[in-house]
Amino acid sequence: MNAINQEAVHSEEIRALDAQHHLHPFTDTQALNSKGARIIERAEGVYLWDSEGNKIIDGMAGLWCVNIGYGRKELAEAAQRQMNELPYYNTFFQTTTNPATQLANELAALTPGDLNHIFFANSGSEAIDTVIRMVRRYWEVAGKPWRKILISRENAYHGSTIGGTSLGGMGAMHKQGGPMLPAIEHIRQPYWYGEAEGQSPEEFALTCAKALEEKILEVGPDNVAAFVGEPIQGAGGVIVPPEGYWAEIQKICRKYDILLVADEVICGFGRTGNWFGSQTLDIKPDMISMAKGLSSGYLPISAVAVGDRIAKTLIEKGGEFYHGFTYSGHPVAAAVALENLRILKEEKVIEQVREETGPYLQQQLRERLGNHPLVGHIEGMGLVAGMALAQDKANHKLFDSDLDVGTICRNHCFANGLIMRACGNRMVLSPPLVISKAEIDELIDKALKCLDLTVRSLEEQGVQLG
Ligand SMILES: *Cc1c(COP(=O)(O)O)cnc(C)c1O
Repeated sequence: MNAINQEAVHSEEIRALDAQHHLHPFTDTQALNSKGARIIERAEGVYLWDSEGNKIIDGMAGLWCVNIGYGRKELAEAAQRQMNELPYYNTFFQTTTNPATQLANELAALTPGDLNHIFFANSGSEAIDTVIRMVRRYWEVAGKPWRKILISRENAYHGSTIGGTSLGGMGAMHKQGGPMLPAIEHIRQPYWYGEAEGQSPEEFALTCAKALEEKILEVGPDNVAAFVGEPIQGAGGVIVPPEGYWAEIQKICRKYDILLVADEVICGFGRTGNWFGSQTLDIKPDMISMAKGLSSGYLPISAVAVGDRIAKTLIEKGGEFYHGFTYSGHPVAAAVALENLRILKEEKVIEQVREETGPYLQQQLRERLGNHPLVGHIEGMGLVAGMALAQDKANHKLFDSDLDVGTICRNHCFANGLIMRACGNRMVLSPPLVISKAEIDELIDKALKCLDLTVRSLEEQGVQLG
């Protein structure tokens, strides 16, 4: 047996074991096991290699997180150094570690406004659970314990713990494993292309923001603790709110003294061309949740940045906050995050996204895919973009969700060396921030080919376009 065949046998063994013992997240296990998982073996820059030797361009930076790209030895070395020196100690018992402290200091400096206080966790979901408990705790300490309700949006994604699922607005998730948490309300999302029904972007921005005020008045302003939103919705399909939306949302929050929380788990660390999406969209949040790009996904770590007003009240009047995780401020994850931030800064990665590659991706997508018969609309900022697949582009008619057109397109991408994700009937891109213009060209070449293949598949199924 030659080496290549041994390799193939090895892959089959992994696939068989995986099918027997591994329950994958957000996966129909039976469907997966019928064909077997694709095994990703190594990666460099913006490319992945699978166990069949296929080279794949990663248009999603893993799960929106590998901002500095794959294969940065400096991060591995930072982890090794810290592992050898102090692999673990907690931050519960009136102790700290140097990496946790340094990272808190860095994040206080990088975050906008007076977000000067940092609470660590390990995932975006845990950061969101921290937000839920902390805003309610804030109001208890501030003397208004009746302010319990958090308001979020339909089709928002805030993670998949019970807190994250409840706060998020994914209907399919709410239907499983309930009941959801009480005292959480949802308002409509600002999805102009899909839901504006003839309103101009400006009108629709106000309509969607007004939905917040209506909800606040419905449940009673003095019962609302916070409004939480992603500056740009990510897993919902990359939905950029129309101009004026956030300004109005912010005005309403201030009017009723409701805390404003930006879930920056995707937008943070350069995705939109600034350190935080709040800066790009001109939001002044009282709190920010962050994860993914904080360590470029090399190790799990997340954080909540807390503004001076909330922190001062909690610290001066709150006593002990009974909340935290064994790995809050994990020294190895913190050391890796620090190294990641150093690289983002020193190599001016975010400036490059803002000034060069971000505008290039957005322009090329519109120029080269905008006229494709399947592409109804393209939106995005910096290095994140979403496109609506439309059955009848001219008449603004989207596909019936039963057709699963996104999955058809996604599967063509998968088979053709491109990772592009489907969120319902929207295709999304969020490549590593270090992607070059030439690699963006390659990404779009492949996306174009896969859109054509999708049209062909639809025709074979007898689905007529237009
Ligand atoms: C991914 C994501 C989360 C959840 O993060 P996990 O690390 O998967 O728990 C929360 N909020 C947003 C906006 C996300 O994109």
